[in-house]
Amino acid sequence: MQIWHQWHAPKVSLPGFMHPATIGIRDHPQLIGGKPTVDSTMNTPKSDLVALAQRRMETAIADNVWTKRQKLALTCRILFEMGHDSGLSGQITTRAEDPGTYYTQRLGLGFDEVTEHNLITVDEDLNVLAGGGMANPANRFHSWIYRARPDVNCIVHTHPLHIAALSMLETPLVVSQMDTCPLYDECAFLDRWPGIPVGNEEGELIAGTLGAKKALFLAHHGQVVTGATIEEACVLAVLIERAARLQLLAMAAGSVQPLDPRLAAEARDWVSTPKRHQAAFAYYARRAVRAGHGACIGFGADAPHFSADEHHHSIATEGGL
Ligand SMILES: [Zn+2]
Repeated sequence: MQIWHQWHAPKVSLPGFMHPATIGIRDHPQLIGGKPTVDSTMNTPKSDLVALAQRRMETAIADNVWTKRQKLALTCRILFEMGHDSGLSGQITTRAEDPGTYYTQRLGLGFDEVTEHNLITVDEDLNVLAGGGMANPANRFHSWIYRARPDVNCIVHTHPLHIAALSMLETPLVVSQMDTCPLYDECAFLDRWPGIPVGNEEGELIAGTLGAKKALFLAHHGQVVTGATIEEACVLAVLIERAARLQLLAMAAGSVQPLDPRLAAEARDWVSTPKRHQAAFAYYARRAVRAGHGACIGFGADAPHFSADEHHHSIATEGGL
């Protein structure tokens, strides 16, 4: 249906539409069985196919409509399922509506206990503005990152098992496999452990070492990923633990070989789009709900047919936006 719609507007430049002449599609399509036929793209250059796919994703994949609180609660549940829990360690924050304020989980709750309703709102000094309890004192380094990086809207700091194990070797994270390329040349390394990150000194050190990159691997500690969106930070958190696991497996078997820098950058840019991050997050969210975490967003934990579309509909009809 999406493609048919595009066929009716070949002379107009529309979002998500690439002019037929650039991708080998006829200006005047034939109809077979009520559907348009297209010339083969088998000779279309890779760069054009990449551009076409990206544009189609813009219209073919729905935007996520969960609230910030719901996305943050889902992120906690997703990462719990992905092995990011380490007792009460780790913090997940996102910018709240007012400048200088953030949503985060309440100290004392595990990631599998966080819901959209028990999140708290804090300022950069970690004063609680809404909700009960207190934030993790280590949230202070988040404040330093948010100050330094206006482009960052979400931060995930965790100690997942393979990241924690790799951190003991005082070696940088090596991205050497296609799936983890969103982290290629995007992961800084703090090669010494400054101690518990509750002081402003650690905040300045962590924010400064992160620099302009999206991720930071902390020796003897864990990982920090940032995102322009909650979805991006969540996806990168999933990937950085996978990258560490892959690295440990590969190092145990042989010598890790570097990726071709140009191809690695191409792979990174191919996957690192807001739309792809939204789609990946929605998939992880559905998995988390199927694993029993639906209650964190007020969705029945026993919803076997849960889908992003169904949930979007339920939120819209309830005025939950
Ligand atoms: Zn930590």
